[in-house]
Amino acid sequence: MIDVRNLRKSFGTLEVLKGIDLEVAAGDVAVLIGPSGCGKSTLLRCLNLLETPSAGRLEIAGRKLEFDGTTRVPERQQAEFRSATGMVFQNFNLFPHMTVLENVMSGPLLNGLKSKAEAKKLALALLDRVGLSQKTDLYPRQISGGQAQRVAIARALALEPKVMLFDEPTSALDPELVGEVLEVMQSLARDGTTMIVVTHEMGFAREVASKVVFMEGGHVLESGPPAEVLGAPRTERLRSFLSKVE
Ligand code: ADP
Ligand code: MG
Repeated sequence: MIDVRNLRKSFGTLEVLKGIDLEVAAGDVAVLIGPSGCGKSTLLRCLNLLETPSAGRLEIAGRKLEFDGTTRVPERQQAEFRSATGMVFQNFNLFPHMTVLENVMSGPLLNGLKSKAEAKKLALALLDRVGLSQKTDLYPRQISGGQAQRVAIARALALEPKVMLFDEPTSALDPELVGEVLEVMQSLARDGTTMIVVTHEMGFAREVASKVVFMEGGHVLESGPPAEVLGAPRTERLRSFLSKVE
């Protein structure tokens, strides 16, 4: 589903990604871990072209792109590529002036692929799936952070992406609200959703990940099944990282 080859990204003279290789099969959950500043968000942002990679190759759900530092991806190809991924951010990023239902309907209405009635039907089904059928007419300021993040997940799903990307989806939540968001993510995983998740929730990684990827300094240092990577880290750097987050 996802094939990343030798992906590089620099901001000016700062090289943040130094040749990332990453493969994620359909239905797999890849959990991305690593110290702050190692490039996790940049990698996710490259996957949906919020950042343009400086070099390397990207393949997502059959769409392929190659970068050489001067690449300008044509608008249409960019849109096509972007539609393959749904992204969930740390801070929810809901539209404050729209109700919960309108937030979830907004994507399909904007891209013009669904009628209003179809968009509403889909949004209601997705809000039911994330356990928020009772909250459809509230505004983001009227719901909890955990509920807001579940709305954000429903909103991303409404665009029917091939892959879901989560960037520290529970980091901004009060501890007692983390579980409800992880549960929704776990249920998506059970239903076969392909996901890449940046998180410090090692319990989630252990239980849900098909693959754990440890990044440091712009490189992938270790990658494999959770039992291997988390249970028997090979590098001192990973051991040291795990001792801090667990
Ligand atoms: P992580 O998500 O692992 O904490 P990031 O991908 O956010 O790390 O950031 C990696 C590095 O790239 C950091 O040093 C950060 O300051 C830098 N960086 C990220 N985005 C930009 C940008 N748009 N311009 C310049 N530097 C950036
Ligand atoms: Mg980040």
